[in-house]
Amino acid sequence: MHRDIATPVRTKEILQKYGFSFKKSLGQNFLIDTNILRNIVDNAGLTEESGAIEVGPGIGALTEQLAKRCKKVVAFEIDQRLLPILEDTLAPYGNTTIIHQDVLKANVREVMEREFAGMDDVMVVANLPYYVTTPIIMKLLEERLPIRGIVVMLQKEVADRISAKPGTKDYGSLSIAIQYYTVAETVMIVPKTVFIPQPNVDSAVIRLTRRKEPLFPVISEDFFFTVTRGSFAQRRKTILNNLMSQLPDGKAKKEMILSSLQEAGVEPGRRGESLSIEEFARLSDALYPYFN
Ligand code: SAM
Repeated sequence: MHRDIATPVRTKEILQKYGFSFKKSLGQNFLIDTNILRNIVDNAGLTEESGAIEVGPGIGALTEQLAKRCKKVVAFEIDQRLLPILEDTLAPYGNTTIIHQDVLKANVREVMEREFAGMDDVMVVANLPYYVTTPIIMKLLEERLPIRGIVVMLQKEVADRISAKPGTKDYGSLSIAIQYYTVAETVMIVPKTVFIPQPNVDSAVIRLTRRKEPLFPVISEDFFFTVTRGSFAQRRKTILNNLMSQLPDGKAKKEMILSSLQEAGVEPGRRGESLSIEEFARLSDALYPYFN
């Protein structure tokens, strides 16, 4: 039996063997606690028939735990220096494939069709690079990939915003964008001490379970997201004032916005943070004919 990668001793041995130095700009904070990793994998609900997509395998700490639990793991890694290391550390796991690519530029759908052909349960599981957590999650959701969900480690502050409910200070366009596509839950708060190097901020693991249908279907998702982002442009402003400054200018703009707010049953003096996702959906559909 070989030792797990994610122990302080083995991780240091691997880093030393290859003279690896961390790149802060790539969000490299590696996990060195096997219990945390198992807990992440448990939360993904994988079976021997499942596939897993990982973003940023690092030296393979999480990849190894995934490989033990599911049928196949495909991991995107941007840092070329990690490729020979992964070849070494993941040698015992024939069910892992590393793709040397920036996940934001990757054609993930095509990779899934190729690598997970005939498999119908695929989860994204990752300890995300913190400088790009939201673009990565939004890409995976907006592309409507055939995944069951996403279980990822990220900054606690971002996890709070993603799972926030209306009327709270953390609720905003990110909460709405993600909850529109998924049911979002924070499943674990993680101390800094389980990483090397230790990050500056607290971390959390969230689980996003994809909805079969978006929460409230809208005429145009793009316009819905324009309206929600615009409504939070200045949090202290009313929804009317935010929409006035964020929507394109045109004749009788104010009347159109007021009439749409009325149609959606939203008082013009309310603030964006008080609107539910359903109210935003109604508002976006009411505004749509005037601004498109
Ligand atoms: N999974 C490992 C672990 O848990 O120990 C490493 C996680 S570390 C927080 C993030 C990893 O993502 C690093 O290996 C980094 O090189 C990689 N990475 C950063 N930006 C990336 C991108 N745009 N696409 C793919 N991988 C990326």
